[in-house]
Amino acid sequence: MTADTLIKGARVVDGTGAPWFHADVRLSGGQIAAIGPDLPTDGAEVVQAAGRTLAPGFIDAHCHDDLAFLREPDRPEKALQGVTSIVVGNCSFSLYPAPLHAIDLLRGHFGGLLGETARSEVFPDFAGYRDALEAPGIALNLISLVGHAALRLAVMGYERRPATPAEVAAMQALLAAQLNAGAAGLSLGLVYPPSAFAERAELVALAETTGQAGGLLAAHVRSYEANLLNSMEEFIDILAAARVPGLLSHLQSAGRPNWGAIPAALARLETARAAGIDISFDMYPYPAGSSYVLQLLPPAAQEGGLAALRARLADPAARAELRRRVEHGSADGHLQSKIALIGWGNVLISGVSNPSLKSLEGQRMDAAANSRGIDPFDLLAKLVEEDDGQTAIVMFQLDEGDLRAACCHRLHMVGSDGLPRPGTRPHPRAFGTFPRILGPLRRDRHWFTLEDAVRRMTAMPAQRFGLGTRGLIRPGMVADLVLFEDTIEDRATFEEPAQTPAGITDVWVAGQAVVAQGKTTGARPGKVLARG
Ligand SMILES: [Zn+2]
Repeated sequence: MTADTLIKGARVVDGTGAPWFHADVRLSGGQIAAIGPDLPTDGAEVVQAAGRTLAPGFIDAHCHDDLAFLREPDRPEKALQGVTSIVVGNCSFSLYPAPLHAIDLLRGHFGGLLGETARSEVFPDFAGYRDALEAPGIALNLISLVGHAALRLAVMGYERRPATPAEVAAMQALLAAQLNAGAAGLSLGLVYPPSAFAERAELVALAETTGQAGGLLAAHVRSYEANLLNSMEEFIDILAAARVPGLLSHLQSAGRPNWGAIPAALARLETARAAGIDISFDMYPYPAGSSYVLQLLPPAAQEGGLAALRARLADPAARAELRRRVEHGSADGHLQSKIALIGWGNVLISGVSNPSLKSLEGQRMDAAANSRGIDPFDLLAKLVEEDDGQTAIVMFQLDEGDLRAACCHRLHMVGSDGLPRPGTRPHPRAFGTFPRILGPLRRDRHWFTLEDAVRRMTAMPAQRFGLGTRGLIRPGMVADLVLFEDTIEDRATFEEPAQTPAGITDVWVAGQAVVAQGKTTGARPGKVLARG
């Protein structure tokens, strides 16, 4: 049993969006025990907090720390941002459920996004993943969605066709078992094979299973380019048909010809809500995205998985066709080519698995290809071949005006979408999202009030993910808290991403300090939070 803590004289921002107030806050038995002026010390350890802000611990509504958290239970890059809970399993990628026959398929799939994944790092079910996390203890709390890819790989592998009714039923049963064990919902990744190979009947059926269990449907929709609005229609239609609450992942409109589309997308969300559909969205506060190099290829190229893709690249006719599709898009114009839209020069290689390719990290695709005397498409093919497709990229593709419109909209919550890969040069959002919102964007550029910014990273995601006892500073709530100075600032940049932020002094999870005086403490009071 840890001693009580008394946080004295902070500016309390309670998470609701209400104006801050000065108060003392007493933590006891892992909970917020009392809030008020001049609370007695009564043997508590006192933290003098005058001049600093106390907020509920931040909830990262969208990240890809599934594997990093297994390997690094203290997650310092998150804890030092004031984050106390993270949501993993996004964009169709989760480390479970993998029945025996699908273990290698799932590790190959997950490895494409986050690097080499061991057999022991994928799990038969939610309980297996939870137990592997909790055995060594974890510093922060974790909430997990079930990735659609895991369901499809288990039942259909990389086949590019609609699921049969029997296959849909098998996926539903596998999903229901994870939801009943405590997974928070289902995530789709409709640009990423094999999730991208699914059609409406399958998606509605899985959404219904999710809704029946009280879960949430999150979606990386089919296009964030010219077809953004059509892709939103598809998602809204699924939510309406299945009567399930929805979270649209990282709302954005990518590529200069598509800039300026976000106000119309936001208006569409409002009309959906007016029609009774419970939808909101997450977004990170940067004008660049990040993904894996396979995303530059059309989904059909990945039919059958990585081996089949390599065979296509080895066949001269198929390779020429793929080159044309990657550089110019498809003949019918339905699938926009990322490269046609943003150009090779806006794609930065941020992480590789193969040590012999390490020097490519930090280089743009055009310059990297040039320095090797090949063209960028051939470099892409080389990365598929020599890096097993496990190459992470950053894409400079968004408009600042769109970004601000999305982030300031009332339905926006904060999700870093960080893709942690230690030893590489990932998108800085993994290290700086929360302090960037509270410092440069709130304090310096006035995008938000302090209270509104905090709401988007606390009460709002807590409600969305059903975390009834977190996300607010109220007596009886779990004591997940962060204390920060007004000088709060991110320091991670695209050039030097692995920089911890400034100004966050103390972070508590269930009343135990995981960060004190700006340093991690090694305490592991976190839990895997089961839905409900
Ligand atoms: Zn995504």
